[in-house]
Amino acid sequence: MIVVEDVHKHFGGFHAVDGASLNIGAGTITGLIGPNGAGKTTLFNVIAGVLPPTSGRVTMQGEDITGLPPHELFHKGLLRTFQIAHEFHSMSCRENLMMVPGGQAGERLWDTWFSRKRIAEEERALRAKADEVLEFLTIEHLADEKAGQVSGGQKKLLELGRTMMVDAKIVFLDEVGAGVNRTLLNTIGDAILKLNRERNYTFVVIEHDMDFIGKICDPVICMAEGKVLAEGSLDEIKANEQVIEAYLGT
Ligand code: ADP
Repeated sequence: MIVVEDVHKHFGGFHAVDGASLNIGAGTITGLIGPNGAGKTTLFNVIAGVLPPTSGRVTMQGEDITGLPPHELFHKGLLRTFQIAHEFHSMSCRENLMMVPGGQAGERLWDTWFSRKRIAEEERALRAKADEVLEFLTIEHLADEKAGQVSGGQKKLLELGRTMMVDAKIVFLDEVGAGVNRTLLNTIGDAILKLNRERNYTFVVIEHDMDFIGKICDPVICMAEGKVLAEGSLDEIKANEQVIEAYLGT
C-alpha cells in the first residue's frame, strides 16, 4: 500500500528522520513503536503530507505521493486522524461527523441555489451515515452530546469515526491510547479490528501501550534515532537486541 524509501526529515541540523525505509502492506494493521524522539510522529507527518521530507520518496499503490498536501492525499484515501479542533467542540458528535469534507452538499453554491430539495435529501443521507458510524463505534448515545463534553477516549472514537465518513484506504493513528482508560481502549481496538476486517482499511498505529499493540498489530515496526531498527511480530521485536538496546538507552 505504502512504500517509504530512504526518507529524511531535518529540522536545521537535527535529523528527526534519518533515512527511514519501510513497507506498509495492504490490509495490515501495522504498529509503529520506538522510544520517545525516535521520529515516529515526524515520519507520520511526512507520509500524510503535513511536513515535506528533506529527501526520500513515498509511494502509495505505486504512485509517487511524496510531498502531496493532506487534502490531495485525503482524496486518495490516505488519512491521518487529528484531534477535534477547539472550534468544533460546541458542535454535537453527529455534526462533527457530518462536517467531514466530501459529503456536504450544502457547501456547493450551485446546489444551494438550484436544488434545495436535493440538499435536504443529501443532508438526510449524511445524517443517516453519521448515525451509522456512531452505532458502529458503539457511541450512538453521544450523537447529540457536544464533542467538547465527551471523554478523551470517546473523542478518539469520534476521530476514528471521521475517517469512516469518507472512503478511506489507509488511516494513520497517532497515540490512540494516550490518556484513554482500558475499557475505551479495548473499544477503540475492537473498532480498528472491525474496520480492518469488514471495510478492508489498512492502519498504521503509533502507540506506547504494548498490550494494545500486541492485540491488534501485525507486523510491528520499531524505529529509533530516525531509522527503522526492526520489523516483525511483537514477540520478535521484543526479542530483538537492537530494539532492547534502543529502549534501555532512553
Ligand atoms: P516520536 O514521535 O518518535 O516521539 P518525533 O517525531 O515527535 O518522535 O520527534 C523526533 C525528534 O524530532 C524529537 O527529538 C523532536 O524534538 C524533534 N522534532 C520534531 N518536530 C520538530 C520540529 N518541528 N522542530 C524541531 N525539532 C523537531
